[in-house]
Amino acid sequence: DTIGDNLDRTVAAHGDRDALVECATERRWTYRELAADVDALALGLLDAGIGKGDRVGIWAPNCAEWTLTQYATAKIGAILVNINPAYRSHELEFVLNQAGVTMLVAAESFKTSDYAAMIEQVRPKCAELRHVVLLGHDAWNSLLDKGKQGDAAASAERLAEKRAGLSADDPINIQYTSGTTGFPKGATLSHHNILNNGYFVGELCNYTEADRVCIPVPFYHCFGMVMGNLACTSHGSTMVIPAPAFDPKASLAAVAAERCTSLYGVPTMFIAELAEPTFGDYDLSTLRTGIMAGSPCPVEVMKQVIDRMGMAEVSICYGMTETSPVSTQTRADDSVQRRVSTVGRVGPHLEVKVVDPETGLTVPRGQTGELCTRGYSVMLGYWNQPDKTDEAIDRARWMHTGDLAVMDDEGYVNITGRIKDMVIRGGENLYPREIEEFLYTHPDILDAQVIGVPDTKYGEELMAWVRMREGAEPLTEETVRAFCEGRLARYKIPRYVHVVEEFPMTVTGKVRKVEMREKSIDLLG
Ligand code: ATP
Ligand code: MG
Repeated sequence: DTIGDNLDRTVAAHGDRDALVECATERRWTYRELAADVDALALGLLDAGIGKGDRVGIWAPNCAEWTLTQYATAKIGAILVNINPAYRSHELEFVLNQAGVTMLVAAESFKTSDYAAMIEQVRPKCAELRHVVLLGHDAWNSLLDKGKQGDAAASAERLAEKRAGLSADDPINIQYTSGTTGFPKGATLSHHNILNNGYFVGELCNYTEADRVCIPVPFYHCFGMVMGNLACTSHGSTMVIPAPAFDPKASLAAVAAERCTSLYGVPTMFIAELAEPTFGDYDLSTLRTGIMAGSPCPVEVMKQVIDRMGMAEVSICYGMTETSPVSTQTRADDSVQRRVSTVGRVGPHLEVKVVDPETGLTVPRGQTGELCTRGYSVMLGYWNQPDKTDEAIDRARWMHTGDLAVMDDEGYVNITGRIKDMVIRGGENLYPREIEEFLYTHPDILDAQVIGVPDTKYGEELMAWVRMREGAEPLTEETVRAFCEGRLARYKIPRYVHVVEEFPMTVTGKVRKVEMREKSIDLLG
């Protein structure tokens, strides 16, 4: 199936059920209404000369139009290019040219960013960019209106004809990685890649047409558009957009108002929701499940999500943009212990293995190595970067994730860090994740991140950045180190401790350790 075929199947089965709710504007669509708008937009795109394989960029925070554009491009086989809402003109220009975008659909502005002005600024330098469509303006309205005019039967025939020329293996999406460890790379994905992944993520969450999923994670990223949108549309569930960008109160309010059964987030989002002073004012009793993913999920936070948010079946997913994204996932029937402390087992129809990064040989269960994934989910490649593709995907089609993992005898996987984040202190391999988990157990520490900084004696030394709970006694390097004494092996105790208000973050909500390392080096002089 293509994504268009799959959507039509859901419309036939659940046409009158809610498909999409945008809380900020109180707009809502049933599946039938959604399909009508998607088809109108698809026809509008065809009229504008967009066809199979053409790149359509989308640059907007979460909104209903993002979703409409996602499905309309898939219907006609155009390649959707997700553009990071945090970008500024220089990065915008890079992506538009790197992906050869011919049409850009964009919000006029977002927060303090004037998108329209930035687009005008870069436009002369983007030779392939022929159309700019600003949401809410004439160009957008006429795309939709044109598709709605004209003879319905003829329009349907025109779309059907286009769709006959599509294959599930065609590229339909270029998604940039989060840029956590360097410059983002554009993963090229097919219908087959992301539709299956969304479907199986939904299966393992036991989604049905009765589920209503609150999606505060960006659509720009696979978490929002695949694990969110595609998981919902392939199961007839409802997509709920709490706000254009993450806001803990808006998420909690959306769950309560829309009676959501599932809530998504990266760990930092759940941490913010749980710490929200008005947390107790929201009725979260409809929550059954949800997904935490994207970065290491602290056990303490998982426990609170289960106990205080009532998400008894909450699932942890592990994956990466290049694998559509999910590779492993916990299931509702896994023991609570496993659901809070592992990233689950391999997903249906996929393979994972843990190898020695030096030799490429599979390591025994229980030993650390690099996680590799193979199967339907592995991307077609990085867009126009064949060398990078060859570095990441080997000849047997295994994707080398760059993540360190341990697999137990029953196949449960633990992610112990990224190869790039591993700290080597005096020849000893240290895994920041382990030390972060320990620091979370300090009652006054809200969030902790551990990095390696250069050291003349040991090669690298450990440094912890910590955020404190509101109202707690100020922490110092001495008090944090004293807390570790006797509880952590000496060599694992951070040499430096830096108390901060915020960590440097990607728009997908991940901590940018690269930036922390640079800043730390400056700090230490
Ligand atoms: P870049 O590749 O540009 O440096 P990125 O790897 O963060 O950025 P994504 O594709 O968004 O970009 O994220 C995938 C990565 O996120 C994984 O490789 C892994 O390091 C991390 N990750 C995802 N889920 C989990 C999880 N449940 N636990 C631990 N880490 C996770
Ligand atoms: Mg990556």
